[in-house]
Amino acid sequence: MEENLTISIAHLYPKLLNLYGDLGNIITLKNRCKWRNINVDFEEINIGDKIGTHDLYFIGGGQDKQQEDVAQELYSHKAELLAQRDDGAVFLGICGGYQLFGHYYQPHDKDKLKGLSLMDAYTVAGKNRFIGNVTIETDFLTPKTLVGFENHSGLTYLEGDTKPLGKSIVGNGNNDSDEFEGGQYKNVFGTYLHGSLLPKNPHFADYLIELALEKRYGKKIQLPELDDSIELATHNSLINKAY
Ligand code: GLN
Repeated sequence: MEENLTISIAHLYPKLLNLYGDLGNIITLKNRCKWRNINVDFEEINIGDKIGTHDLYFIGGGQDKQQEDVAQELYSHKAELLAQRDDGAVFLGICGGYQLFGHYYQPHDKDKLKGLSLMDAYTVAGKNRFIGNVTIETDFLTPKTLVGFENHSGLTYLEGDTKPLGKSIVGNGNNDSDEFEGGQYKNVFGTYLHGSLLPKNPHFADYLIELALEKRYGKKIQLPELDDSIELATHNSLINKAY
């Protein structure tokens, strides 16, 4: 692999949206780059900050209140982030962050929160809270599975060209009715999988890093293999595990 590669990563509103250790996703991305001598320009974006141009944007999950605190500010950056999406930037949103990637999130008994419309989807709060382990099967990763856990009442519905991240094997998925979980459009990925997600799914972390490198350098750059025996042993121990 070439020397002196860099990717820039923005962590959006971690002081408000960082539920169940979603920060672990950033730690994983940083480490998996460091272990390959890829430089990471990292920026934490908080309320009032400019967002700027990055190769990868991450936003975690949060309770409805924290989503309300972030939504208006995030929406003020909509045009800029849509342009970043169309320029090939990678986005990963977890749960509450994922919900704000769509057109809106309608909480219980409160005003609708406008989303970024990075993907054609919408979310409405449901009567039940889905809590538990999750296994989904993708059609683009090797291994195919992603594992984590969910805690949401939001029901997400995908529309237009938005594809699911995968098929629900264990867990409730987007809305407990269409048997799919998460969403993806261009290089935008959203999922309900907390965990945090990427430490137990190193193949997805590398997939996102390779997309970010391709966005920055305009060509595919294959990452050298790492010894993921511990990460994949953990991953495999959780596949199909409901309790
Ligand atoms: N508040 C949202 C819901 O309950 C998102 C929760 C989360 O981020 N875990 O659906």
